[in-house]
Amino acid sequence: MSLYVWEGVLTDYTPGVIFALAASADGARVAVRRAESEPARTDKKGRVWPAVVHPDHDCGCKVCEEMRVAPDVYDSPAGFAVWGGS
Ligand SMILES: [Zn+2]
Repeated sequence: MSLYVWEGVLTDYTPGVIFALAASADGARVAVRRAESEPARTDKKGRVWPAVVHPDHDCGCKVCEEMRVAPDVYDSPAGFAVWGGS
């Protein structure tokens, strides 16, 4: 298992990070897509939000788009910190 990291992604006001512990880069992509999937729901105002499903292939959403490039791979002790911001 290695840690796969995409830095400088999903930028709103500041960039975010996508990461996964997996056996391969493609395995990391699948793990992230599954973690980012959500069932359909209705919020407190009665608005219906459709399911967000990231299948095991690039569905074209922002998360999938950001993972099209090769991630950084860590397979020995390493650490980093990402500051929040506005
Ligand atoms: Zn997607």
